Amino acid sequence: MRRKLAAGNWKMNGLSDQLAEVEKLCGAHPNPKVEIMIAPPATLISSMVVTAADHPLEVAGQDCHAKDSGAHTGDISAAMLKDAGASHVILGHSERREDHDETDDDVRAKARAALAAGLKVVICIGETLEEREAANTLDIIAGQMAGSLPDILTGENTIIAYEPIWAIGTGKIPTLEQIGEVHDFIRSKLEARFGDGVGRSIRLLYGGSVKPSNASEIFAVSNVDGALVGGASLKADDFSGIIQALE
Ligand code: PEP
Repeated sequence: MRRKLAAGNWKMNGLSDQLAEVEKLCGAHPNPKVEIMIAPPATLISSMVVTAADHPLEVAGQDCHAKDSGAHTGDISAAMLKDAGASHVILGHSERREDHDETDDDVRAKARAALAAGLKVVICIGETLEEREAANTLDIIAGQMAGSLPDILTGENTIIAYEPIWAIGTGKIPTLEQIGEVHDFIRSKLEARFGDGVGRSIRLLYGGSVKPSNASEIFAVSNVDGALVGGASLKADDFSGIIQALE
């Protein structure tokens, strides 16, 4: 059985006072039936770990460097995230791929570094609107999977987030059939590459404009094991509604 997961990505949002939302969220879900994770900006990782000390909330980084240490001003290593208390790191988010020209090879190298440091990885993939309209979605997904996923992954250490880029922060979501088609395709590719056991155990998240109002129908789609949530993870009430839909 794959454990359901509600993961929030705060992106470049949140100062210390935003931790009040985490306190509220933890208070609203003292014994969550699903896994809950938040990826705050790196500046808040340690304090979020302290805020959630008595709660099974997992704290994640939003990116890491592929190298362990060195002359990389402004970057953060996987070991640093782990040292700060993170259990996971999001890699290959479309905003990293676009803003920082990250390639599939970069994402795979980062994933190897993160796994070696003892972090679990959430690897993001997804097509642009042009790619979808040109009926290239599945080819793009296959290429990103082939390039971004390291060979050493397991169902325990890796989660994949399917995030159509055109659905992120736009309020638009694919049809449920489109979400199902891509998740089923990812599952079949994982089984073909890693074998049925590992392929069936890796959790798949949908990401892109998930809200309390659309979460239930998305979570009912086959092979959707939860969500990666941007905007709606910033407010405890909104994220709580999504968690409830998953429970
Ligand atoms: C994201 O950035 O991963 C995301 C899914 O954002 P939003 O939920 O705001 O669309």
